[in-house]
Amino acid sequence: MAENYLVTGGAGFIGSHVVDELIAAGKIPIVVDNLSSGKIENLDPRALFYEQDITDQEMMEKVFMLHRPVALFHLAAQISVSRSVREPEEDAMINIIGTLRLLKIAAKYGVKKVVFSSTGGAIYGDEVKKIPTDEEELPKPLSPYGIAKFSTENYLRFFSNELGMKYVVLRYANVYGPRQDPYGEAGVVAIFSERMLQNQEVVIFGDGQCVRDYVFVSDVAKANLLALEKSEDCIMNIGTGKGTSVNELFTQMKRITGYAREAIHKEPRPGDLKKSILDANKAKYLLGWEPEVKLEKGLESTIEYFRNELVSS
Ligand code: NAD
Repeated sequence: MAENYLVTGGAGFIGSHVVDELIAAGKIPIVVDNLSSGKIENLDPRALFYEQDITDQEMMEKVFMLHRPVALFHLAAQISVSRSVREPEEDAMINIIGTLRLLKIAAKYGVKKVVFSSTGGAIYGDEVKKIPTDEEELPKPLSPYGIAKFSTENYLRFFSNELGMKYVVLRYANVYGPRQDPYGEAGVVAIFSERMLQNQEVVIFGDGQCVRDYVFVSDVAKANLLALEKSEDCIMNIGTGKGTSVNELFTQMKRITGYAREAIHKEPRPGDLKKSILDANKAKYLLGWEPEVKLEKGLESTIEYFRNELVSS
């Protein structure tokens, strides 16, 4: 019998690319997503789809009972850092309690491995000892979102020790690429693409010197599949080790889109980190993973995607 793979959040930005990789590898993805930020159009129709909330224990149990997945890629989450600050209980309901229920059911139905989407940016905090930051850095998350991700990492260790359900935690840098939501608060590449292509005003919060590590979504999806095959019970960063300021990003995207206007600068947003760059040598060593898509190429294909979306809308 063919093996099933459950992807929560599989209609979302990163999750839908994980689904694509699974299908390309000849595997069968079962997707659970409540479509709160994901879209059905993101999803390859060959995936089996349940429009369902991960916090709904009864329904989740049915999915596991029916499909008996061997592995779980857990990407469904409340992803807004600022919402987590405004509504920490709501964030914890989805990102901690929802995840915990899911992990309990997964263990009950014999899932062998969980690949969890965590965060590098929000987990290490602003006062890191080393940049690029490696996994030796002790997490000091500042937001409820980061706290919830760190809690889940710890619960995964508990489930592995107690019940033998193995895991790999992937702490992503700033992921960008096709299908990212251009209307959210994060996802600067998607927001700039959409606005530049429509010749609308582009806002930069603060002086634009904030530095981020931009990693392309297909590289992140590949890391998920390698994590499934190659390693267990460990935590690793997924980033490029290279930093790009918002101003540099703006200039590069201006050239690719032909946008002729200057950016509007507004007050910096509270809580925005000044500099976040991840050292992903552990993932290289353990998974043989390295980012393949250079920023320039990734920006070109993201902008191309948004151009096509605008034409077809
Ligand atoms: P996304 O919003 O596109 O994906 C999240 C998906 O989860 C959406 O499809 C949404 O509809 C679904 N979802 C949310 N709550 C749900 C619930 N209660 N039940 C079922 N489905 C639910 O965001 P993304 O950027 O693709 O993020 C995917 C994962 O990667 C998240 O766990 C996020 O925290 C993590 N992550 C993303 C980044 C990034 O740069 N995008 C960086 C670090 C970590």
